[in-house]
Amino acid sequence: MLAVAEPCLGPEEKEALVAVIDSGWITMGEKVAQFEQAFASLHGAEDSVAVGSCTAALHLILLGLELGPGDEVLVPAMTFVATANSVLYVGAKPVFVDIESSDVPLMSLQDAEAKCTPRTKAIILVHYAGYLPDRAKWQAFAAKRGLLIVEDAAHAAGLTEAGTFGVAAAFSFYGNKNMTTAEGGAIIANEPALRDRIRRARGHGLTSGTFQRHGKAMLGYDVTMLGYNYRIDELRAALGLVQMKNLLAWNEHRRELTTHYRKLLAQRAQDVVVPFSAPRTSACHIMPIVLPRQCDRVAVISALKTAGVQTTIHYPPTHLFSFYQEVFPDVRLPETEDFAARELTLPLHPRMQEPHVDLVTRALADALSRGR
Ligand SMILES: *Cc1c(COP(=O)(O)O)cnc(C)c1O
Repeated sequence: MLAVAEPCLGPEEKEALVAVIDSGWITMGEKVAQFEQAFASLHGAEDSVAVGSCTAALHLILLGLELGPGDEVLVPAMTFVATANSVLYVGAKPVFVDIESSDVPLMSLQDAEAKCTPRTKAIILVHYAGYLPDRAKWQAFAAKRGLLIVEDAAHAAGLTEAGTFGVAAAFSFYGNKNMTTAEGGAIIANEPALRDRIRRARGHGLTSGTFQRHGKAMLGYDVTMLGYNYRIDELRAALGLVQMKNLLAWNEHRRELTTHYRKLLAQRAQDVVVPFSAPRTSACHIMPIVLPRQCDRVAVISALKTAGVQTTIHYPPTHLFSFYQEVFPDVRLPETEDFAARELTLPLHPRMQEPHVDLVTRALADALSRGR
């Protein structure tokens, strides 16, 4: 079965894990510090904060920005549920914004304008599938309204532009992302005071960590805020350091596979929409396509499965989940709902080669012609 996503793990990762175990120090220490520095410099940033997940990263950013009850945050619904959840964690209200179109399934600037109220404080931009929104346009919009821009850059690790849109960006190292530490995440926040608040909140609000106290024989610490345990550990930081060495090459390979997909889909599946038809900076995290309106998606998924090709859906929109329906029953996002009903994600990961793309597009063309 050709998987939609697959982590690339090898002997170097194994060795790195063994070395941490042999070192005797497994919780947050030097490896985490090294990883934070390396991840930051890969993105042209001064520093980064490594955490247990991207979800924790988003939560810490919104806490650090002191968003809370009474505040509204513009979010897309065409994303993983963690984006909107992080807004609820701090007691603020997520306000769902529609996507531009099936071709550009990123948050619509026009709908964002329409959804602004005097309570709107921030926007979370999601780099869906790894494709970056138009930075200049969003910055102009945010400046005009006095809004903070936060990036959910879970799909965009390795792009130097990620982390430069606004006040902070959250990255994910979950197993299916462009690089992985199994579970993990990082924050790029360029303002030192914000970064310090985030770093302190990551570890219970303590003024020093176990590693610093161990090194300096310090006895005490103070707690200056309500913090969390959102730490990462040395094992995962060591994995991240190895993964990062390959990240840019893997992203390039993803781009080449995506280009090949676009070429073969144009030949073999003309009635399929391949989003992002115009060139746009991308980490090519996933390969979304949009099936024709009359097409039976369940039948296509099962035909592809029979042909040995796994597919998924990115995403069932957040506002349609039972929990969100209960809390926000009246949200209507026509473009998002239409896209979500027809979207299909094809396999894309660095272990694939062009013949795999050939196989997938042939299987898809067969499935579509049978459904016609
Ligand atoms: C994966 C993902 C997250 C959550 O990442 P975790 O590291 O699993 O917490 C958040 N947002 C988006 C868009 C994602 O794809």
